[in-house]
Amino acid sequence: MSQKSTPAESVHADPRALVQAHLAEPAVRNHSEDELVLWRERIKRLLKEQNAVLVAHYYTDPLIQALAEETGGCVSDSLEMARFGAQHPADTLIVAGVKFMGETAKILTPNKRVLMPTLEATCSLDLGCPPEAFAAFCDAHPDRTVVVYANTSAAVKARADWVVTSSIALDVVDYLDSRGEKIIWAPDKHLGSYVQRETGADVLLWDGSCIVHEEFKAKGVLDLKALYPDAAVLVHPESPASVVELADVVGSTSQIINAAKTRPEKRFVVATDQGIFYKMQQQCPDKELIIAPTAGAGATCRSCANCPWMAMNSLENLCGVLERGDNEIFVDPELGRRAMIPLQRMLDFRKP
Ligand code: SF4
Repeated sequence: MSQKSTPAESVHADPRALVQAHLAEPAVRNHSEDELVLWRERIKRLLKEQNAVLVAHYYTDPLIQALAEETGGCVSDSLEMARFGAQHPADTLIVAGVKFMGETAKILTPNKRVLMPTLEATCSLDLGCPPEAFAAFCDAHPDRTVVVYANTSAAVKARADWVVTSSIALDVVDYLDSRGEKIIWAPDKHLGSYVQRETGADVLLWDGSCIVHEEFKAKGVLDLKALYPDAAVLVHPESPASVVELADVVGSTSQIINAAKTRPEKRFVVATDQGIFYKMQQQCPDKELIIAPTAGAGATCRSCANCPWMAMNSLENLCGVLERGDNEIFVDPELGRRAMIPLQRMLDFRKP
């Protein structure tokens, strides 16, 4: 039932080792090691020539994360990706992640060219929150402050009072609750109900979910706890409440990595996308990471905790977009100006 991650130390000592280890992954099985090394070298050269920087999410292919680090880019959660891109002097941002991350980068830095390896990579939370239906929902509850998760389209952000990521959701809603404000929360119902339980705020939930985190099963986590009683359980709050209840730490991707680094346990059961293991193992090479199960006994995989849209980012399409200069992200300037208001509130927010 468990799956141990690839140690990342060797990755930095020898990128070929990372390539070799990753060849076992289904997404890259069709590419030779030479091809992958060639793409890496080409991408490095093109980034330099185009004064571009690679900004990658924790859930992307470890090959992309390693390359972002080697070339002076960043690997982080969506909040830090947005901050890093906005502050970096590069003319072009290459955003390896999903569509809303590219849009957010463009809204924050309208004068920069923002490219993405693929324009097909989206998110079930974004798809599950169409702007017109969401605007009607908000219009029906004019007395509520509208708080939306970063995993939304520019149009949904433009309708919001606040944008939050999972790393600051609790603090922002707690702050709004302390001011007596009632909340509309969208789109993730699991994260929203977690925030509601933790803060006691009056929260009206939109009915959206992440197809990756929703699949974690309490029964599977309990089985692992029985097998490894010394392990601590780290859970992303997009997971169902029954899984969150079993957690020793509930947190965003950055908070989960930090917990693995700072907690005394040597073993962790982790309920979030497996892509995070690259960075976690790099930060804690002496600890064992076990992915929480998502599947039943009859399933063909032990855990399907891999976002299908994040997995669309590859060295091949990253190289292609740098060569062709296509897949550029555009956001209507007026929409961007309106979306910038709640985004800026998020960036400026400091816990009182
Ligand atoms: S892991 Fe879930 S929340 Fe993250 S991009 Fe994929 S579908 Fe969206």
